[in-house]
Amino acid sequence: MKRSDLEVLIDQAVLHRRIAELGEEISHDYRDKDLALVGILKGSFVFLADLSRALSVECTIDFLGLSSYGSSTTSSGVVQITSDLSAPIEGRDVLVVEDIIDTGLTMRYLLDNLTTRHPRSLRICTLLHKPARTKVEVPIHYTGFTIEDKFVIGYGLDYDNRFRNVPYIGHKVT
Ligand code: 5GP
Repeated sequence: MKRSDLEVLIDQAVLHRRIAELGEEISHDYRDKDLALVGILKGSFVFLADLSRALSVECTIDFLGLSSYGSSTTSSGVVQITSDLSAPIEGRDVLVVEDIIDTGLTMRYLLDNLTTRHPRSLRICTLLHKPARTKVEVPIHYTGFTIEDKFVIGYGLDYDNRFRNVPYIGHKVT
């Protein structure tokens, strides 16, 4: 695939406007809390960089590396932690920052795993949500955009580990 095969689905201006709104909402909700942002690698690194700078509250930033077995374009729900958090989250107000929730299987695993570490609160912020593909329901507190069932690329999301640096959300035209 080439970059020219991508069609823009959500452009940079729209992304940045929505992330500013999410930043305001999260800053308001966490004004008296002990916010620990947890970005899920690799896909969330671009979103987390922009979202964290849209916050007016203090926070720590940590990452959790996950890889799911099987095909790179569909989730098997069998997830492995490839790189763990660098600090405990016990007693903290954890906000998981994810690029996309598709079947929900990855997030279900993650929520179960993080709950065993006894955070004070645990919420999810996802840039994209594809409700048509849901296999397990997970509580999503902050959603950037709800999208239809298309495989999207860019703004952190990959195609065969490439194109994460494309600055907009696109999809492949066939
Ligand atoms: P889930 O477990 O919710 O089905 O899938 C979550 C993971 O699958 C995401 O974190 C992402 O890595 C990958 N994924 C799901 N849908 C897409 C998509 O449309 N594009 C890309 N690049 N990855 C996706």
